[in-house]
Amino acid sequence: MVKISSWGRLDSTEHDVRFLKSTLEVPGALRAGAPGIPYGMGRSYGDVCLNPGGTIWRTTGLDHFISLDENSGVLTCEAGVVLRDIQHLVIPRGWSLPVTPGTQLVTVGGAIANDVHGKNHHVYGTFGDHVRRIKIVRTDGTEIDCGPDLQPDWFAATVGGIGLTGLITEAQIQLRRIPGPWFETETVPFSNLDEFFSLSSESDAEWENSVSWIDCVASDGRGLFMRGNPVSVTDRKQPHGRSIPMPLVPPISLVNQVSLHAFNAAYFQINRRNSGKKLTHYEPFLYPLDNIVDWNRMYGPHGFYQYQSVVPIETGREATAAMMREIAASGQGSFLAVLKTFGQRIPKGMLSFPRPGVTLALDFPNLGDRSLKLFDRLDSIVRNAGGRIYLAKDARMSRGMFEAGYPRIEEFLNFRDPGMSSAMSRRLLGN
Ligand SMILES: Cc1cc2nc3c(=O)[nH]c(=O)nc-3n(C[C@H](O)[C@H](O)[C@H](O)COP(=O)(O)OP(=O)(O)OC[C@H]3O[C@@H](n4cnc5c(N)ncnc54)[C@H](O)[C@@H]3O)c2cc1C
Repeated sequence: MVKISSWGRLDSTEHDVRFLKSTLEVPGALRAGAPGIPYGMGRSYGDVCLNPGGTIWRTTGLDHFISLDENSGVLTCEAGVVLRDIQHLVIPRGWSLPVTPGTQLVTVGGAIANDVHGKNHHVYGTFGDHVRRIKIVRTDGTEIDCGPDLQPDWFAATVGGIGLTGLITEAQIQLRRIPGPWFETETVPFSNLDEFFSLSSESDAEWENSVSWIDCVASDGRGLFMRGNPVSVTDRKQPHGRSIPMPLVPPISLVNQVSLHAFNAAYFQINRRNSGKKLTHYEPFLYPLDNIVDWNRMYGPHGFYQYQSVVPIETGREATAAMMREIAASGQGSFLAVLKTFGQRIPKGMLSFPRPGVTLALDFPNLGDRSLKLFDRLDSIVRNAGGRIYLAKDARMSRGMFEAGYPRIEEFLNFRDPGMSSAMSRRLLGN
Protein backbone atom coordinates (compact mmCIF):
# COMPACT_ATOMS: atom_id res chain seq x y z
CA MET A 1 0.00 0.00 0.00
CA VAL A 2 1.27 3.46 -0.91
CA LYS A 3 0.08 6.89 0.21
CA ILE A 4 -1.48 8.77 -2.69
CA SER A 5 -3.16 12.15 -2.98
CA SER A 6 -4.60 14.15 -5.84
CA TRP A 7 -3.50 17.64 -6.89
CA GLY A 8 -5.36 19.39 -4.05
CA ARG A 9 -3.34 17.43 -1.43
CA LEU A 10 -6.34 17.51 0.91
CA ASP A 11 -5.24 14.19 2.37
CA SER A 12 -2.93 11.36 1.54
CA THR A 13 -4.37 7.87 1.91
CA GLU A 14 -3.10 4.35 1.39
CA HIS A 15 -3.85 2.78 -1.99
CA ASP A 16 -3.00 -0.52 -3.61
CA VAL A 17 -1.18 0.96 -6.62
CA ARG A 18 -0.94 -1.29 -9.67
CA PHE A 19 1.27 -0.05 -12.48
CA LEU A 20 0.15 -0.92 -16.00
CA LYS A 21 3.05 -1.33 -18.41
CA SER A 22 1.46 -2.93 -21.46
CA THR A 23 -2.03 -2.88 -22.93
CA LEU A 24 -1.86 -6.70 -23.19
CA GLU A 25 -1.80 -7.07 -19.43
CA VAL A 26 -4.73 -4.69 -18.83
CA PRO A 27 -7.64 -7.21 -18.89
CA GLY A 28 -5.87 -9.49 -16.38
CA ALA A 29 -4.81 -6.58 -14.17
CA LEU A 30 -8.35 -5.20 -14.06
CA ARG A 31 -9.88 -8.57 -13.21
CA ALA A 32 -7.33 -9.14 -10.45
CA GLY A 33 -7.52 -5.67 -8.90
CA ALA A 34 -11.21 -4.75 -9.09
CA PRO A 35 -12.88 -2.79 -7.66
CA GLY A 36 -10.62 0.14 -8.42
CA ILE A 37 -10.21 3.29 -10.51
CA PRO A 38 -7.72 4.40 -13.21
CA TYR A 39 -5.19 7.07 -12.16
CA GLY A 40 -3.30 9.08 -14.77
CA MET A 41 -1.13 12.00 -13.61
CA GLY A 42 -3.35 12.76 -10.59
CA ARG A 43 -3.85 16.34 -11.84
CA SER A 44 -7.49 16.30 -10.76
CA TYR A 45 -7.92 18.33 -7.61
CA GLY A 46 -10.36 16.21 -5.60
CA ASP A 47 -11.37 12.57 -5.24
CA VAL A 48 -12.30 11.65 -8.82
CA CYS A 49 -9.07 9.61 -9.21
CA LEU A 50 -8.84 8.31 -5.62
CA ASN A 51 -9.93 5.06 -4.01
CA PRO A 52 -8.66 5.09 -0.40
CA GLY A 53 -7.89 1.60 0.90
CA GLY A 54 -8.46 0.08 -2.56
CA THR A 55 -6.90 -0.32 -5.99
CA ILE A 56 -5.78 2.35 -8.42
CA TRP A 57 -4.40 1.43 -11.82
CA ARG A 58 -1.60 3.82 -12.77
CA THR A 59 -1.71 4.30 -16.51
CA THR A 60 1.44 6.34 -17.16
CA GLY A 61 3.26 3.16 -18.27
CA LEU A 62 0.85 2.92 -21.23
CA ASP A 63 2.88 5.60 -22.96
CA HIS A 64 3.46 4.40 -26.51
CA PHE A 65 2.75 6.36 -29.66
CA ILE A 66 1.14 4.02 -32.22
CA SER A 67 0.92 6.13 -35.38
CA LEU A 68 0.94 9.70 -36.67
CA ASP A 69 -0.31 10.51 -40.16
CA GLU A 70 1.45 13.77 -40.95
CA ASN A 71 -0.83 14.49 -43.90
CA SER A 72 -4.15 14.14 -42.13
CA GLY A 73 -3.02 14.92 -38.57
CA VAL A 74 -4.50 11.74 -37.11
CA LEU A 75 -2.60 10.53 -34.04
CA THR A 76 -3.10 7.17 -32.35
CA CYS A 77 -1.51 6.54 -28.97
CA GLU A 78 -1.90 4.71 -25.70
CA ALA A 79 -3.95 6.42 -23.03
CA GLY A 80 -1.12 7.02 -20.57
CA VAL A 81 0.73 9.31 -23.00
CA VAL A 82 1.10 12.78 -21.49
CA LEU A 83 -0.19 15.74 -23.52
CA ARG A 84 3.18 17.53 -23.25
CA ASP A 85 4.85 14.65 -25.11
CA ILE A 86 2.24 14.91 -27.86
CA GLN A 87 2.72 18.67 -28.18
CA HIS A 88 6.52 18.29 -28.30
CA LEU A 89 6.16 15.67 -31.04
CA VAL A 90 3.56 17.33 -33.25
CA ILE A 91 4.04 21.11 -32.95
CA PRO A 92 7.40 21.07 -34.80
CA ARG A 93 5.54 19.15 -37.54
CA GLY A 94 2.88 21.85 -37.90
CA TRP A 95 0.14 20.15 -35.87
CA SER A 96 -1.26 20.62 -32.37
CA LEU A 97 -3.78 19.10 -30.01
CA PRO A 98 -6.89 21.20 -30.68
CA VAL A 99 -7.88 21.36 -26.99
CA THR A 100 -5.64 21.21 -23.92
CA PRO A 101 -6.29 22.22 -20.31
CA GLY A 102 -4.24 24.81 -18.38
CA THR A 103 -1.57 22.17 -17.72
CA GLN A 104 -0.12 19.83 -20.32
CA LEU A 105 0.96 17.39 -17.59
CA VAL A 106 -2.14 15.22 -17.93
CA THR A 107 -2.66 11.91 -19.71
CA VAL A 108 -4.81 11.30 -22.77
CA GLY A 109 -7.00 8.98 -20.66
CA GLY A 110 -7.45 11.63 -17.96
CA ALA A 111 -8.23 14.29 -20.58
CA ILE A 112 -10.96 12.07 -22.07
CA ALA A 113 -12.38 10.86 -18.74
CA ASN A 114 -12.89 14.47 -17.59
CA ASP A 115 -13.59 15.75 -21.12
CA VAL A 116 -11.29 18.68 -20.40
CA HIS A 117 -11.61 22.14 -21.92
CA GLY A 118 -9.09 24.87 -22.64
CA LYS A 119 -8.96 28.60 -23.29
CA ASN A 120 -10.41 28.03 -26.77
CA HIS A 121 -13.70 26.36 -25.84
CA HIS A 122 -15.71 28.91 -27.82
CA VAL A 123 -13.95 27.72 -31.01
CA TYR A 124 -12.85 24.11 -30.46
CA GLY A 125 -15.20 22.74 -27.77
CA THR A 126 -13.83 20.04 -25.48
CA PHE A 127 -11.11 17.37 -25.80
CA GLY A 128 -13.76 14.75 -26.60
CA ASP A 129 -14.83 16.68 -29.70
CA HIS A 130 -11.53 15.70 -31.35
CA VAL A 131 -11.38 12.04 -30.34
CA ARG A 132 -12.27 9.68 -33.22
CA ARG A 133 -11.85 6.29 -31.55
CA ILE A 134 -11.15 4.85 -28.14
CA LYS A 135 -10.56 1.34 -26.86
CA ILE A 136 -11.95 0.54 -23.43
CA VAL A 137 -11.26 -2.51 -21.28
CA ARG A 138 -13.80 -3.40 -18.58
CA THR A 139 -13.05 -5.17 -15.30
CA ASP A 140 -14.74 -8.36 -16.61
CA GLY A 141 -12.18 -8.41 -19.44
CA THR A 142 -14.56 -7.19 -22.20
CA GLU A 143 -13.04 -4.82 -24.77
CA ILE A 144 -15.08 -2.11 -26.47
CA ASP A 145 -14.13 0.01 -29.48
CA CYS A 146 -16.15 3.17 -29.83
CA GLY A 147 -16.19 6.68 -31.27
CA PRO A 148 -18.66 9.38 -32.29
CA ASP A 149 -19.75 7.15 -35.21
CA LEU A 150 -19.19 3.68 -33.70
CA GLN A 151 -21.22 2.67 -30.63
CA PRO A 152 -21.73 6.40 -29.95
CA ASP A 153 -23.58 5.73 -26.69
CA TRP A 154 -20.51 4.00 -25.20
CA PHE A 155 -18.42 6.92 -26.42
CA ALA A 156 -20.74 9.49 -24.87
CA ALA A 157 -20.69 7.65 -21.55
CA THR A 158 -16.88 7.34 -21.49
CA VAL A 159 -16.03 10.89 -22.59
CA GLY A 160 -16.39 12.72 -19.29
CA GLY A 161 -17.25 9.37 -17.66
CA ILE A 162 -14.69 9.88 -14.83
CA GLY A 163 -13.17 6.42 -15.33
CA LEU A 164 -16.36 4.58 -14.41
CA THR A 165 -17.12 2.84 -17.73
CA GLY A 166 -13.78 0.99 -17.96
CA LEU A 167 -10.13 1.75 -18.55
CA ILE A 168 -9.28 3.53 -21.81
CA THR A 169 -6.20 1.89 -23.29
CA GLU A 170 -5.89 3.65 -26.64
CA ALA A 171 -7.20 6.76 -28.40
CA GLN A 172 -7.19 8.21 -31.88
CA ILE A 173 -7.20 11.99 -32.00
CA GLN A 174 -7.66 14.44 -34.87
CA LEU A 175 -5.01 17.15 -34.51
CA ARG A 176 -5.33 20.64 -35.94
CA ARG A 177 -2.96 22.57 -38.16
CA ILE A 178 -0.90 25.26 -36.44
CA PRO A 179 1.56 27.73 -37.99
CA GLY A 180 4.18 27.19 -35.26
CA PRO A 181 4.81 27.48 -31.54
CA TRP A 182 4.13 31.24 -31.21
CA PHE A 183 1.02 33.14 -30.24
CA GLU A 184 0.15 36.76 -30.68
CA THR A 185 -1.20 37.61 -27.23
CA GLU A 186 -2.82 40.62 -25.69
CA THR A 187 -3.60 41.55 -22.09
CA VAL A 188 -6.44 43.99 -21.51
CA PRO A 189 -7.19 45.19 -17.96
CA PHE A 190 -10.86 45.49 -16.97
CA SER A 191 -12.35 47.20 -13.96
CA ASN A 192 -15.61 45.34 -13.44
CA LEU A 193 -17.70 42.39 -14.60
CA ASP A 194 -19.61 44.39 -17.22
CA GLU A 195 -16.32 45.22 -18.92
CA PHE A 196 -15.31 41.55 -18.70
CA PHE A 197 -18.51 40.43 -20.44
CA SER A 198 -18.20 42.98 -23.23
CA LEU A 199 -14.52 42.13 -23.80
CA SER A 200 -15.49 38.49 -23.91
CA SER A 201 -18.22 38.87 -26.52
CA GLU A 202 -16.15 41.28 -28.61
CA SER A 203 -13.17 38.81 -28.56
CA ASP A 204 -14.98 35.62 -29.48
CA ALA A 205 -14.98 36.22 -33.24
CA GLU A 206 -11.36 37.39 -33.55
CA TRP A 207 -9.47 35.51 -30.84
CA GLU A 208 -9.47 31.74 -30.48
CA ASN A 209 -8.08 31.73 -26.94
CA SER A 210 -9.29 33.86 -24.08
CA VAL A 211 -9.20 33.65 -20.32
CA SER A 212 -9.25 36.17 -17.48
CA TRP A 213 -7.56 36.50 -14.17
CA ILE A 214 -9.93 38.06 -11.67
CA ASP A 215 -9.04 39.74 -8.39
CA CYS A 216 -11.11 37.91 -5.80
CA VAL A 217 -10.38 40.38 -3.00
CA ALA A 218 -11.42 43.52 -4.88
CA SER A 219 -15.18 43.98 -4.60
CA ASP A 220 -15.51 45.65 -8.04
CA GLY A 221 -14.52 42.57 -10.07
CA ARG A 222 -11.37 43.97 -11.68
CA GLY A 223 -9.09 41.70 -13.62
CA LEU A 224 -6.96 41.05 -16.67
CA PHE A 225 -8.39 39.70 -19.92
CA MET A 226 -5.83 37.62 -21.83
CA ARG A 227 -6.35 36.53 -25.42
CA GLY A 228 -4.20 34.91 -28.06
CA ASN A 229 -4.01 33.51 -31.58
CA PRO A 230 -1.37 31.22 -33.06
CA VAL A 231 0.81 33.10 -35.55
CA SER A 232 3.55 32.28 -38.00
CA VAL A 233 6.94 33.56 -36.81
CA THR A 234 10.20 32.35 -38.28
CA ASP A 235 12.95 34.40 -36.67
CA ARG A 236 12.42 33.67 -32.97
CA LYS A 237 14.21 31.13 -30.82
CA GLN A 238 12.21 29.07 -28.36
CA PRO A 239 12.74 30.43 -24.81
CA HIS A 240 14.52 28.20 -22.30
CA GLY A 241 11.68 27.11 -20.06
CA ARG A 242 13.64 26.68 -16.83
CA SER A 243 11.70 24.87 -14.08
CA ILE A 244 11.42 26.40 -10.62
CA PRO A 245 10.86 23.79 -7.91
CA MET A 246 8.71 24.25 -4.80
CA PRO A 247 11.04 22.09 -2.72
CA LEU A 248 9.16 21.84 0.59
CA VAL A 249 5.68 21.79 2.00
CA PRO A 250 5.69 24.92 4.20
CA PRO A 251 4.27 24.38 7.72
CA ILE A 252 1.45 26.83 6.99
CA SER A 253 -0.21 27.94 3.78
CA LEU A 254 1.70 30.71 1.98
CA VAL A 255 -1.68 31.88 0.72
CA ASN A 256 -3.36 33.96 3.40
CA GLN A 257 -5.18 37.28 3.65
CA VAL A 258 -2.00 39.36 3.87
CA SER A 259 -0.14 37.67 1.01
CA LEU A 260 -3.30 37.60 -1.10
CA HIS A 261 -4.03 41.34 -0.85
CA ALA A 262 -0.39 42.22 -1.53
CA PHE A 263 -0.01 39.80 -4.44
CA ASN A 264 -3.26 40.70 -6.16
CA ALA A 265 -2.65 44.45 -5.96
CA ALA A 266 0.90 44.08 -7.34
CA TYR A 267 -0.12 41.56 -10.05
CA PHE A 268 -2.90 43.80 -11.31
CA GLN A 269 -0.75 46.97 -11.38
CA ILE A 270 2.28 45.33 -13.04
CA ASN A 271 0.17 43.68 -15.72
CA ARG A 272 -1.84 46.85 -16.29
CA ARG A 273 1.41 48.71 -16.98
CA ASN A 274 2.63 45.92 -19.29
CA SER A 275 -0.70 45.41 -21.04
CA GLY A 276 -0.95 45.32 -24.84
CA LYS A 277 0.12 42.95 -27.58
CA LYS A 278 3.23 40.77 -27.74
CA LEU A 279 4.53 37.45 -29.02
CA THR A 280 4.41 34.60 -26.52
CA HIS A 281 5.57 31.01 -26.85
CA TYR A 282 2.68 28.53 -26.54
CA GLU A 283 3.98 26.94 -23.32
CA PRO A 284 3.95 30.01 -21.01
CA PHE A 285 0.74 31.21 -22.66
CA LEU A 286 -1.26 27.98 -22.48
CA TYR A 287 0.35 26.34 -19.42
CA PRO A 288 1.59 29.21 -17.22
CA LEU A 289 2.13 27.16 -14.04
CA ASP A 290 3.82 24.10 -15.52
CA ASN A 291 7.31 25.49 -14.92
CA ILE A 292 6.74 25.74 -11.17
CA VAL A 293 7.18 22.12 -10.17
CA ASP A 294 4.90 21.06 -7.27
CA TRP A 295 3.39 24.53 -6.87
CA ASN A 296 0.46 22.85 -5.11
CA ARG A 297 2.72 22.53 -2.04
CA MET A 298 2.46 26.26 -1.33
CA TYR A 299 -0.90 25.70 0.39
CA GLY A 300 0.84 23.88 3.23
CA PRO A 301 0.05 20.57 4.92
CA HIS A 302 -3.75 20.85 4.72
CA GLY A 303 -3.86 21.31 0.96
CA PHE A 304 -6.47 23.25 -0.97
CA TYR A 305 -9.75 23.03 -2.83
CA GLN A 306 -10.60 24.26 -6.25
CA TYR A 307 -14.17 25.38 -6.80
CA GLN A 308 -15.16 25.55 -10.49
CA SER A 309 -18.69 26.28 -11.55
CA VAL A 310 -20.45 27.06 -14.80
CA VAL A 311 -23.71 28.99 -14.97
CA PRO A 312 -25.82 29.82 -18.05
CA ILE A 313 -25.03 33.14 -19.70
CA GLU A 314 -28.51 34.56 -18.93
CA THR A 315 -27.94 34.21 -15.17
CA GLY A 316 -24.14 34.45 -15.40
CA ARG A 317 -23.65 38.16 -14.71
CA GLU A 318 -25.70 38.13 -11.49
CA ALA A 319 -24.48 34.73 -10.27
CA THR A 320 -20.81 35.62 -10.83
CA ALA A 321 -21.23 38.93 -9.01
CA ALA A 322 -22.98 37.14 -6.11
CA MET A 323 -20.20 34.53 -5.87
CA MET A 324 -17.49 37.20 -5.95
CA ARG A 325 -19.26 39.09 -3.14
CA GLU A 326 -19.44 35.92 -1.01
CA ILE A 327 -15.78 35.12 -1.63
CA ALA A 328 -14.56 38.67 -0.92
CA ALA A 329 -16.65 38.79 2.29
CA SER A 330 -15.29 35.43 3.45
CA GLY A 331 -11.67 36.63 3.19
CA GLN A 332 -10.79 33.29 1.60
CA GLY A 333 -9.76 32.63 -2.00
CA SER A 334 -6.34 32.84 -3.61
CA PHE A 335 -4.57 34.56 -6.48
CA LEU A 336 -5.49 31.65 -8.76
CA ALA A 337 -8.90 32.87 -9.86
CA VAL A 338 -10.04 32.43 -13.43
CA LEU A 339 -13.12 33.58 -15.31
CA LYS A 340 -14.07 32.52 -18.84
CA THR A 341 -17.10 32.22 -21.05
CA PHE A 342 -17.80 28.91 -22.77
CA GLY A 343 -19.07 28.79 -26.35
CA GLN A 344 -22.33 27.34 -27.63
CA ARG A 345 -21.00 23.85 -28.39
CA ILE A 346 -22.70 21.10 -26.36
CA PRO A 347 -20.15 18.42 -25.43
CA LYS A 348 -20.73 14.79 -26.38
CA GLY A 349 -20.19 13.34 -22.90
CA MET A 350 -23.19 12.49 -20.73
CA LEU A 351 -21.34 13.89 -17.69
CA SER A 352 -19.21 16.51 -19.47
CA PHE A 353 -18.91 19.75 -17.54
CA PRO A 354 -18.91 22.59 -20.11
CA ARG A 355 -22.15 24.16 -21.26
CA PRO A 356 -22.86 27.56 -22.81
CA GLY A 357 -22.27 30.07 -20.03
CA VAL A 358 -19.63 31.52 -17.77
CA THR A 359 -17.19 29.50 -15.70
CA LEU A 360 -15.45 30.71 -12.54
CA ALA A 361 -12.58 28.69 -11.02
CA LEU A 362 -10.82 29.56 -7.79
CA ASP A 363 -8.36 27.86 -5.48
CA PHE A 364 -9.02 28.04 -1.73
CA PRO A 365 -6.61 27.03 1.03
CA ASN A 366 -8.26 24.30 3.10
CA LEU A 367 -9.58 26.06 6.21
CA GLY A 368 -11.79 23.14 7.25
CA ASP A 369 -15.34 24.05 8.19
CA ARG A 370 -14.94 27.68 7.10
CA SER A 371 -14.14 26.56 3.55
CA LEU A 372 -16.96 24.01 3.44
CA LYS A 373 -19.53 26.55 4.64
CA LEU A 374 -18.42 29.02 1.98
CA PHE A 375 -18.76 26.32 -0.72
CA ASP A 376 -22.30 25.55 0.47
CA ARG A 377 -23.19 29.21 -0.03
CA LEU A 378 -21.58 29.20 -3.48
CA ASP A 379 -23.46 25.97 -4.33
CA SER A 380 -26.80 27.59 -3.67
CA ILE A 381 -25.94 30.50 -5.97
CA VAL A 382 -24.83 28.07 -8.72
CA ARG A 383 -27.85 25.83 -8.27
CA ASN A 384 -30.33 28.71 -8.31
CA ALA A 385 -28.67 29.99 -11.47
CA GLY A 386 -29.11 26.59 -13.17
CA GLY A 387 -25.39 25.75 -13.18
CA ARG A 388 -23.09 22.93 -12.10
CA ILE A 389 -19.73 22.10 -10.50
CA TYR A 390 -16.78 20.51 -12.38
CA LEU A 391 -16.16 16.91 -11.25
CA ALA A 392 -12.42 17.13 -12.06
CA LYS A 393 -12.05 19.78 -9.37
CA ASP A 394 -14.55 18.61 -6.79
CA ALA A 395 -13.95 16.92 -3.44
CA ARG A 396 -17.05 17.78 -1.45
CA MET A 397 -20.25 18.54 -3.36
CA SER A 398 -23.44 16.82 -2.15
CA ARG A 399 -25.31 14.21 -4.13
CA GLY A 400 -28.26 16.62 -4.46
CA MET A 401 -26.02 19.27 -6.01
CA PHE A 402 -24.60 16.69 -8.45
CA GLU A 403 -28.05 15.45 -9.47
CA ALA A 404 -29.31 19.02 -9.97
CA GLY A 405 -26.39 19.88 -12.28
CA TYR A 406 -26.06 16.70 -14.34
CA PRO A 407 -29.39 15.69 -15.96
CA ARG A 408 -28.02 12.61 -17.80
CA ILE A 409 -26.93 10.55 -14.77
CA GLU A 410 -29.59 7.83 -15.23
CA GLU A 411 -28.60 7.32 -18.86
CA PHE A 412 -24.92 7.19 -17.86
CA LEU A 413 -25.54 4.46 -15.25
CA ASN A 414 -26.42 1.97 -18.04
CA PHE A 415 -22.76 2.00 -19.07
CA ARG A 416 -21.15 1.89 -15.63
CA ASP A 417 -18.56 -0.83 -15.05
CA PRO A 418 -19.53 -2.35 -11.69
CA GLY A 419 -15.86 -3.05 -10.99
CA MET A 420 -14.92 0.63 -11.21
CA SER A 421 -15.29 2.55 -7.98
CA SER A 422 -13.74 5.76 -6.64
CA ALA A 423 -14.15 7.94 -3.58
CA MET A 424 -16.15 10.29 -5.81
CA SER A 425 -18.43 7.58 -7.24
CA ARG A 426 -19.28 6.41 -3.72
CA ARG A 427 -19.97 9.97 -2.59
CA LEU A 428 -22.06 11.02 -5.59
CA LEU A 429 -23.56 7.77 -6.91
CA GLY A 430 -23.70 5.67 -3.75
CA ASN A 431 -21.26 2.96 -4.88
C1 LIG B 1 -2.66 23.49 -13.11
C2 LIG B 1 -3.89 22.78 -13.58
C3 LIG B 1 -4.65 23.40 -14.55
C4 LIG B 1 -5.80 22.74 -15.04
N1 LIG B 1 -6.54 23.39 -15.99
C5 LIG B 1 -7.62 22.78 -16.49
C6 LIG B 1 -8.36 23.40 -17.55
O1 LIG B 1 -8.03 24.50 -18.00
N2 LIG B 1 -9.44 22.74 -18.03
C7 LIG B 1 -9.80 21.50 -17.57
O2 LIG B 1 -10.77 20.94 -18.08
N3 LIG B 1 -9.12 20.90 -16.58
C8 LIG B 1 -8.04 21.51 -16.03
N4 LIG B 1 -7.32 20.88 -15.06
C9 LIG B 1 -7.75 19.56 -14.59
C10 LIG B 1 -7.10 18.41 -15.37
O3 LIG B 1 -6.99 18.74 -16.74
C11 LIG B 1 -7.98 17.17 -15.28
O4 LIG B 1 -8.22 16.85 -13.94
C12 LIG B 1 -7.40 15.96 -16.01
O5 LIG B 1 -8.42 15.01 -16.15
C13 LIG B 1 -6.23 15.34 -15.27
O6 LIG B 1 -5.70 14.26 -16.03
P1 LIG B 1 -4.83 13.14 -15.32
O7 LIG B 1 -4.12 12.36 -16.37
O8 LIG B 1 -3.99 13.75 -14.26
O9 LIG B 1 -5.95 12.23 -14.70
P2 LIG B 1 -6.28 11.88 -13.18
O10 LIG B 1 -6.45 13.16 -12.44
O11 LIG B 1 -5.30 10.91 -12.67
O12 LIG B 1 -7.70 11.18 -13.34
C14 LIG B 1 -8.81 11.95 -13.76
C15 LIG B 1 -9.98 11.03 -14.11
O13 LIG B 1 -9.64 10.31 -15.28
C16 LIG B 1 -9.78 8.91 -15.07
N5 LIG B 1 -8.78 8.27 -15.91
C17 LIG B 1 -7.46 8.53 -15.98
N6 LIG B 1 -6.89 7.73 -16.91
C18 LIG B 1 -7.89 6.96 -17.41
C19 LIG B 1 -7.94 5.91 -18.39
N7 LIG B 1 -6.85 5.51 -19.05
N8 LIG B 1 -9.13 5.34 -18.63
C20 LIG B 1 -10.26 5.73 -17.99
N9 LIG B 1 -10.26 6.69 -17.06
C21 LIG B 1 -9.09 7.31 -16.78
C22 LIG B 1 -9.55 8.74 -13.57
O14 LIG B 1 -10.16 7.56 -13.10
C23 LIG B 1 -10.25 9.97 -13.05
O15 LIG B 1 -11.63 9.73 -12.99
C24 LIG B 1 -6.18 21.48 -14.54
C25 LIG B 1 -5.39 20.87 -13.56
C26 LIG B 1 -4.26 21.50 -13.09
C27 LIG B 1 -3.43 20.83 -12.02
